[in-house]
Amino acid sequence: MSDRDPRSDFPILARRVGSGEGKPLVYLDNAATTQKPIHVIETVDRFYRQENANIHRGVHYLSMNATDAYDRARERIAETIGAAHPAEVVFVRGTTEAINLVASSFAGDRFQPGDEIVITRMEHHANIVPWQLLAQKLGVVLKWAPVTDSGEIDLDAFRACFSEETKLAAFTQVSNALGTINPAKEMVAIAREFGAHVLVDGAQGVAHGMVNVADLGADFYAFSGHKVVGPDGIGVLWGRRELLDSMPPYQGGGDMIARVSVEKTTFRDSPERFEAGTPNISGAIGLGAAFDYLAGLGWDEIRRREQDVLDYATERLGEIEGIRILGPADTRGKVAVISFTMDSAHPHDIGTILDTEGIAIRAGHHCAQPLMDFYQIAGTARASFAFYNNRDDVDRLMDGIAKVKKFFG
Ligand code: PMP
Repeated sequence: MSDRDPRSDFPILARRVGSGEGKPLVYLDNAATTQKPIHVIETVDRFYRQENANIHRGVHYLSMNATDAYDRARERIAETIGAAHPAEVVFVRGTTEAINLVASSFAGDRFQPGDEIVITRMEHHANIVPWQLLAQKLGVVLKWAPVTDSGEIDLDAFRACFSEETKLAAFTQVSNALGTINPAKEMVAIAREFGAHVLVDGAQGVAHGMVNVADLGADFYAFSGHKVVGPDGIGVLWGRRELLDSMPPYQGGGDMIARVSVEKTTFRDSPERFEAGTPNISGAIGLGAAFDYLAGLGWDEIRRREQDVLDYATERLGEIEGIRILGPADTRGKVAVISFTMDSAHPHDIGTILDTEGIAIRAGHHCAQPLMDFYQIAGTARASFAFYNNRDDVDRLMDGIAKVKKFFG
């Protein structure tokens, strides 16, 4: 492990939380959103202090510079995710908007009543509700691939959901609720056997360095900047260029047009076609800076740190009686997320008591209610780790859980 401690790059990790003098923060809610390194904070700060202007069509210095910075961010991201061309990177608000864009502009434009879409039981609501809305509107049919008791996809059961009517498979690379890493490449290959298109929800995968869209072989890949140490309100829809260029616009407005006249409007190609209006310029530049920062740290180092903390936390939690960890038992089959229940305490009570100790975890259904229904529970307590967490954070979590046990018995 490298000597450099990335914690010092994240100012918020030094603060205390709670009333009075507070408690040193232990931030274990990274699957919801990650903290931001100084490099990203300063990049966004500098943009607004010194570089702010609207992009495109500006003939003045600041506008041209801002346009360059926005384009460079797109190039940086395209390179990081293995896109064939920067035009395949569409800036959106986040994963949710990316999936809605595909549902509306791709599926909504070409699917017929009776066409089928395969999703899985472990999807985040962002990869369920847009398809349900489309089912209501168009009469397409949703097929739900089951999960096993250990929260994994069984490829035979997944395959059994496909038919000649399947037009799209939309599934997550990594479960936000359990941490399960899905065999996404194999799942893409199965969808291809049936001639279906594929959207991969990369909201969780991207934070753990799992994205190489060329290798994955899907048609669309969606992720959010805020889950990968970047700003909120910015995310990416990656799509194959020829597909994007064949899709109608998602929203109409400035910047996405080739020519507007009284009679008719023609549109630009991707990515501008899908970026109507002034985009989140500082967000895109901040996201580029986030990928620069992560590349500087090194994805191998990031994974090594996360695996260490996951293994240690899993071992220590396993020592506590009355705790059930959901999801894969083998920590190599998951990212650094531990979703658990306690015999004696409700997840919200666990979260509230931990909060009094300065420990931030998440409690609830994690926007994955169909998965919770499968387990016949209302929710779990979820500790999700990033590369800046360490074994001391795990020790603090264990002390907090000991308090929960003392309180509830
Ligand atoms: N999919 C998954 C797997 C997620 O974890 C999340 C965020 N929790 C989303 C989609 C939605 O992301 P956002 O809210 O950033 O659009």
